[in-house]
Amino acid sequence: MNEKLVTANIAKALEEVSIAAKKYGRAPGAVRILAVSKTQGADAVRAAAACGLKDFGENYLQEALAKMRDLADLDLTWHFIGPLQSNKTRAVAEHFAWVHSVDREKLLRRLDEQRPADAPPLNICVQVNISGEASKAGVRPADLDALLAAAAALPRLRLRGLMAIPAPAVDFAAQRAPLDALAALFAGAQRRYPQMDTLSMGMSADLEAAVAAGSTLLRIGTAIFGPRARASP
Ligand SMILES: *Cc1c(COP(=O)(O)O)cnc(C)c1O
Repeated sequence: MNEKLVTANIAKALEEVSIAAKKYGRAPGAVRILAVSKTQGADAVRAAAACGLKDFGENYLQEALAKMRDLADLDLTWHFIGPLQSNKTRAVAEHFAWVHSVDREKLLRRLDEQRPADAPPLNICVQVNISGEASKAGVRPADLDALLAAAAALPRLRLRGLMAIPAPAVDFAAQRAPLDALAALFAGAQRRYPQMDTLSMGMSADLEAAVAAGSTLLRIGTAIFGPRARASP
């Protein structure tokens, strides 16, 4: 890991976000960055934290827990963004501040039960299968309302937003279509649940389209840390 490279990448990413925000009339500070540090070492996270980033996203539980221990001296906010199964909910509820990948009620119930009593409520983004891919995680848009109602009713959870990973697309219009669709679902959900303030969408390759479509939290990995040694699932 090259500390200077991470620093330069972050400056460039912030500049890109700021240019896109201006171009699409987004308020300054309306779009934040979640640095996706999966497969990256603690030293890379430390370098990113030194640039002022506080929010980090992790996909793999054991890897994340080890990194949290290494970085316990820093005041970071950890987001679980990877595939979530029932056998991981306890550790996620105990160690993370946010979960972006909740797509069924059983997971919500377990996270609620397992969130430690002395911790603040766990922040939840519900993952939506916005491109309708059979193989992808995420609740179907038709089933979203029921899941949001369940999340909003659980006392140890704080319903914050929606998240999606659209099918990869190269051109801007193709990138924007699913992002706009998620933004529309978000606007509808916010009318019922005004506490929802987070639209978690946009990654390194579709950052500008996501800012245009209304993202409030970009999940950026490669553009900050460089290519990952091992592939994401
Ligand atoms: C890996 C990952 C990202 C970051 O992707 P990049 O293309 O490296 O920016 C964002 N969100 C999720 C859910 C991921 O798994």
